[in-house]
Amino acid sequence: MIIDLRSDTVTKPTKEMLDAMLSADVGDDVYKEDPSVNELEERLAKMFGKDMALFFPTGSMANQAALKLHTNPGEQVICDKYAHIYNYEGGGASFNSGISCKLINGHRGMFTAEQAEASINPPDFYHSPLTSLIAIENTTNKGGGACWDFEELQRIRKVADKHNLGYHLDGARLWNALIAKGESPKQYGELFDTISVCLSKGLGCPMGSVLIGDNELMQNAIRIRKIFGGGMRQVGYMAAAGLYALENHIDRLTEDHKKAIEIGETLSELSLIKKVEPLETNIIIFELNDRVGENDFIEKLNANNIFIIGMGSNKLRMVTHIDYTDEMHNKLITTLRNI
Ligand SMILES: *Cc1c(COP(=O)(O)O)cnc(C)c1O
Repeated sequence: MIIDLRSDTVTKPTKEMLDAMLSADVGDDVYKEDPSVNELEERLAKMFGKDMALFFPTGSMANQAALKLHTNPGEQVICDKYAHIYNYEGGGASFNSGISCKLINGHRGMFTAEQAEASINPPDFYHSPLTSLIAIENTTNKGGGACWDFEELQRIRKVADKHNLGYHLDGARLWNALIAKGESPKQYGELFDTISVCLSKGLGCPMGSVLIGDNELMQNAIRIRKIFGGGMRQVGYMAAAGLYALENHIDRLTEDHKKAIEIGETLSELSLIKKVEPLETNIIIFELNDRVGENDFIEKLNANNIFIIGMGSNKLRMVTHIDYTDEMHNKLITTLRNI
């Protein structure tokens, strides 16, 4: 039994999901003739109360397309220093859109409306880049699966409106936030101009992300996706996995959250561990005591067929997911207690 907690991207489709994929009705999606992709896009647009949605191969590509839709070369996006768009998309903001990131020194990947407003460059001061976009991440990845306070997001919307800025949500794990906080997709659709959501993380699909927005901004999204090399053909097999997951894999995220909290409680009882970050969803970030080597700890787990990742500075991460069973959970808890 291999217990892989490196990420919630390591999951494989369930038999039921594979069945849904195999029986999918497909066509050439570059001609917009794939009924399953069209259905997935319509379903998500409706769910978020927006005009349209577009299927992308990856979350990075969906975010990068959003940056391109909102900005012109030379401009600047405001985001947290932990943001995925800044840290983990290969420098795509500068490569694809020719923009820079103004980083906010937030808390667990989140910041306040005041911090956002203070980061806007005065538009008449032509020496500095023109600020055109604020980007949020919910839940925060590097911030340990933290969920934003919705009221803060509303206050940031007001800042964006006042200064005529776009407002993008990287919602790779938005499903986890919706479940943890009892929020609805429509609330987010009302607030943001564009939203990217991942199907390949908590929802357990083999691939796929969707960018959602209103026609005015999104009309150019299909061209940008083509330029990025993301126009796909009979990709309805993957969209069918997404449709299946939207029906069957959202509510069960509570199980992942429950297990994560139990792991966090176990870890916080161990003398080897200095600190466990507050737990809200499915990401557990913890710090080892200074005398405990990160590699020693990881190797000890590996010897028990348990795999996690290091995040640098003696911090480690575990992520619970649909393929992490009760049996695995019991074994992990026992192993941790005896380490
Ligand atoms: C995983 C992730 C993405 C997208 O990643 P891909 O691997 O490109 O699908 C985007 N944002 C956040 C916060 C993520 O965790």
